[in-house]
Amino acid sequence: MLCEKVEMSIQSVNPRTGEVFGPEIAASKPSDIDSMIAGAVSAFATWSQFSASKRAKVLISLADALDANVGKLVEIADAETGLGVPRLTGEVGRTTFQFRSFAEALNSGDFVAPILDAALDAPVPQGHPKFLKTFRAIGPVAVFGASNFPFAFSVLGGDTASALAAGCSVVIKAHPAHPQTSQLSFEIAKKALADAGAPEGLISLGHGFDFGKSVINDSRISAGAFTGSKAGGRALFDMAQDRQTPIPFYGELGSVNPVVVTESAMSDVSAFAGAYLDSLLMGNGQFCTNPSVLFVPESAEFIAAVQEQLSQRDPAPFLSEATKTLHDNNRAEVIAKTHAQVLQGKSAPTQGFFSSPAVLVVTAQSVLTQPELLATECFGPTGLVVTYANPAQLLTILSKLEGALVGCLFSLKISDLEEQILNALALKAGRVAFNAWPTGVAVTAGQNHGGPYPASTSSLHTSVGTSAITRFLRPVAFQGLPDESYTAVTADTVRGK
Ligand code: NAP
Repeated sequence: MLCEKVEMSIQSVNPRTGEVFGPEIAASKPSDIDSMIAGAVSAFATWSQFSASKRAKVLISLADALDANVGKLVEIADAETGLGVPRLTGEVGRTTFQFRSFAEALNSGDFVAPILDAALDAPVPQGHPKFLKTFRAIGPVAVFGASNFPFAFSVLGGDTASALAAGCSVVIKAHPAHPQTSQLSFEIAKKALADAGAPEGLISLGHGFDFGKSVINDSRISAGAFTGSKAGGRALFDMAQDRQTPIPFYGELGSVNPVVVTESAMSDVSAFAGAYLDSLLMGNGQFCTNPSVLFVPESAEFIAAVQEQLSQRDPAPFLSEATKTLHDNNRAEVIAKTHAQVLQGKSAPTQGFFSSPAVLVVTAQSVLTQPELLATECFGPTGLVVTYANPAQLLTILSKLEGALVGCLFSLKISDLEEQILNALALKAGRVAFNAWPTGVAVTAGQNHGGPYPASTSSLHTSVGTSAITRFLRPVAFQGLPDESYTAVTADTVRGK
C-alpha cells in the first residue's frame, strides 16, 4: 500500500553558515513512487538477463561519467555537507573504484558463476543427482544512503553498486542532508546508464521521509539496503519484516567501536594522544568507524597529553542541524550519567552547526555497573576514554559491550592477554584491527564491514568489498537438468558471455 501523505519540499542547508540555498526539491508523490517501482520491475526483467560482462561494461561507463563530473559533484557536496574538497574528491574516487571493482569481479565470474555438482552414482547418502547451483538477482532493491558519505554510501554508493552488479534494479531514497548532490549524482548516472544501453528505470531516485517508507513497504521490492542510524535502520528493518512478504534488509547502522590499548603501546603518550585525536576528529567525528571508546591503562600522563593537544583542535561543521542536536544531547546525557571528566577543544562559533570537540574520561570501575552508558553513540567530535586498573577489569567490561563494526588493539606484542583481547573483540565486532585506528575502511576482497546487531541487521554480510554483491544474489539449484538447458538458466550469470 502506498502512503498518501504528501510532504513538503526539501532544501539544502549550508552547515558552515546555517543558510538555506538552492532550489527546493519536491518530495516524491505517491504516483511518482508507483511509476518508479513499476520502472524498476520492468528494468529488472531485462537487466538481470544481461550477461555478467555486459553488466560490467555498463558499470564502468557509470564510473567514467562520475569521474568526468567530479568537480561539479564535489562543489555541491561541499556546500551541502561542509566535509571539504579534499575529502569529498577522495570519496568520489572511492565510489568509482567500487563500481570498477564490481565490474572486475563480474568479468572474472566471482560470486556469479554457477557451480556444477556432477551426479554421483552411489548409494545414499553419498549418491546424488547432478546439480547446477546458480546465483540469481533477487529483484528490485530499495537503497537508503547515509548523511556522512554523500557519495560512497549514498545514491551511487556501495549498496547501489553491488545491487546493480548482482543484476538488480534500484529505487533510491535521497538523504535530505544532501538533496542536490543526490539529484546531480542521479542525473549523471541516469544519462551514463542510458548511453551504455542499460534499460530505462534501472535506477530511480525519490525524496522525502514518506517516500522511503512507501518503497520499503511495496510488495514489488525484494530487498532493502540501508546505511544510517540505529533508530532509522531498526525502523525500516521492522517494516521490511512486518510486510506480508518479509524481505532481506541489510542495515549498516551506527556503532560504538572499542579501541583497547595495553601498557606496551603507551611508551610515547604524546604521539599516541595525537594519533587518537586525528582518528577521533576526522570528518568531525562523523564516521561510523570512529574510535568511540578508548580503553587505556590508568595514566595521568596520557590524559594530560590528550587535554593539551585537544585544546589546539578547531571545531568543524556538523553535516546538519539534526546531527548536531542529536550529538549534543547524547554527549550531555553521557556526561550527566557518568560524571565524566570533560576535556575540551576550542570553542565553537555561534554561526552554522558547530560544537567544541570533547573527550570524556571515566574509570572502568564507574561504568562496570552501567555498561549501557558505553552504548550511546555520540556521532560527532566526542570520544570516551575509559581508564582500566587491570586486565581482568578490561576483559569484564569488553564482555559487556554491544555489537560493533570494528574493534582495535594497540600493543607491541601478542601474549596471552592480547590473545584474550583479540578474541573478546572478535565476539563483538565485524572487523578487528591490530595496531591501526578504526577509521578508514579499505574497499577490498578481505574487508568485512558489518557486525553483530546493532552494528548491522545482518551480521553475516559485509557492505564494503566485492562480496557485498552476495546480499543481492539468491541461490537457485537446478537438479537433474539436461546439459543442453544450462545456457537457458544461466544466461544472466555465465562468465564471459
Ligand atoms: P539516518 O538519520 O538514520 O538516515 C538515513 C536514512 O534513513 C534517511 O534517508 C532517513 O530519512 C531514513 N530514515 C531514518 N529514520 C527513518 C524511519 N523511521 N522511517 C523511514 N526512514 C527513515 O542516518 P544518517 O543521519 O544518515 O547517518 C548517521 C548514522 O549513520 C550514524 O549513526 C552513523 O554511525 C551511521 N553510519 C553507519 C555506517 C555503516 O556503514 N554502518 C556508515 C555511515 C554512517 P529522513 O532523513 O528523511 O528521515
